[in-house]
Amino acid sequence: MSDFGGALKPWSDGLRYDVAVLGAPFDEKSSFLRGQSKGPAAIRAVSTGKCYNPETELGVDTSLAGILVDRGDVDTSGDVDKSFGLITEGVRRILADAAKPIVLGGDHSITYPVIRAFAEKFPKLDILHFDAHPDLYDDLYGDRLSHACPFARILEDGLVRNLVQAGIRTGTKEHRETARRHNVRWVEMKDWRDGLALTFENPLYISFDLDALDPAFAPGVSHHEPGGLSTRQVLDVLHALKGTVVGLDVVELNPSRDRSGITAAAAFKIIQEVCGLMMKA
Ligand code: MN
Ligand code: MN
Repeated sequence: MSDFGGALKPWSDGLRYDVAVLGAPFDEKSSFLRGQSKGPAAIRAVSTGKCYNPETELGVDTSLAGILVDRGDVDTSGDVDKSFGLITEGVRRILADAAKPIVLGGDHSITYPVIRAFAEKFPKLDILHFDAHPDLYDDLYGDRLSHACPFARILEDGLVRNLVQAGIRTGTKEHRETARRHNVRWVEMKDWRDGLALTFENPLYISFDLDALDPAFAPGVSHHEPGGLSTRQVLDVLHALKGTVVGLDVVELNPSRDRSGITAAAAFKIIQEVCGLMMKA
């Protein structure tokens, strides 16, 4: 049963909807461990309304405040170029329906083709990126499309106006220089203070790499990086956000390392709270 706390409405052609889930079961650009292709199925499986109700902590009933549908998974059975093209196309179709996509990864490389579709609709787009890693490598092991590189590609293509990266705790000198060159704001874990209130002037896309969370809260990721955020700290930042959220991805869930299912549950919690922000806007 996959119904996002009972909020999901059945899809039918011609239905007008507000928010759409789209799976991107892709892990070919993961540098260390694979398994993120199983992420979308795990998030859907954990989200059952038999366990959760559809109301967010801020009091938005996601079963009533808007129409949430599931547009299924992108076909990722072809080569990388084809899969990335189909990811862009899937997101473009949802945006053309004037709805807000929630993309379930997949490794973090999928954010680049997702943002390509967003940039067509939103020439001024801001991004809030949660991650242990800045994902700003020019290339990793010679691969410029690695899951360690999506924000380098997004910046060099000029697809984002303001990029804020929160939860960072693995920055290199190269990353730091790239961030400075592109005016990227880092909220590093070593400097973390609770009460972070972020304001975004342009339409806001949120990219959530689950390894931003401390592995104590989210062990089901490929790269365990201790010293991260608690689930509560993330929710506090989301609740304090000022801006219009137009899209979300939640990436890097690796169910093979998520024995208790707590990482998938954290992913669903974040999705539900952001879905409430989208519906309220
Ligand atoms: Mn990442
Ligand atoms: Mn990461």
